[in-house]
Amino acid sequence: MYCEDLSPYHYHGCPTGLPGTLSIGWLDRSVPFNTGRVSDQVLDAIRRFARNPVRLMRGVHHCEFCTGPAAATGNGELWMRLSEGPIFVSPQLLPHYIEKHDYLPPSEFLAAINRQIESVPEEECDRMMREHIQRLNNSPSRDDILIELFEIQVYWQSDSFSDLLEFQKHLDWHQGPAPTLATSPLSHRSEGYRLDAVSRNPAATYADISRRFESISRVPYMYRYRLVYLQESWTTVRP
Ligand SMILES: [Zn+2]
Repeated sequence: MYCEDLSPYHYHGCPTGLPGTLSIGWLDRSVPFNTGRVSDQVLDAIRRFARNPVRLMRGVHHCEFCTGPAAATGNGELWMRLSEGPIFVSPQLLPHYIEKHDYLPPSEFLAAINRQIESVPEEECDRMMREHIQRLNNSPSRDDILIELFEIQVYWQSDSFSDLLEFQKHLDWHQGPAPTLATSPLSHRSEGYRLDAVSRNPAATYADISRRFESISRVPYMYRYRLVYLQESWTTVRP
């Protein structure tokens, strides 16, 4: 499960993030993450937390970045709270990501760890999610209905076109039913020719774009995506 750092925590079975929580370290191989060095003192504090995870799942999660049979594993979550303010939620593998894969959590989180942070009891995690679902079913607040939206980059091989103009013509010619490609930003990068779009479901968007080109040559070969922001429902204003 991928969550953008500092976006509300997303739990299984719920399409919107949990108000009052911030995700930390829900990494995915397909999404680049910040790297850097964390002080030993902070890493020790995080390690202590990781000894008592909550919300233990059946089965074990293997680290996606470790290679070989000795991949690190975790099967729980860390819910960390200051005396006031948001609760940080991370996978149990957080200290491993920092130590072995140089993951650098956001500075807000590292500062919070320095200010003493405590664990959230399991019952309270469950209660927060239960109440969130109840509000969603009855009268949700604005914070209850935040929804994920992704920025997606679709790449064609660099040797497929002679220049950007030819790339653009290729896309214009093979528009298909939805005219979104014609107005998308295009660029030429080291990885190839790139088209930028936004999507609720990056895998489905990539499949849709690929389908438009599959009967001819020059189909895209790769995509990259990230959660860019959280979209709220419309608010009606009558001044
Ligand atoms: Zn690993």
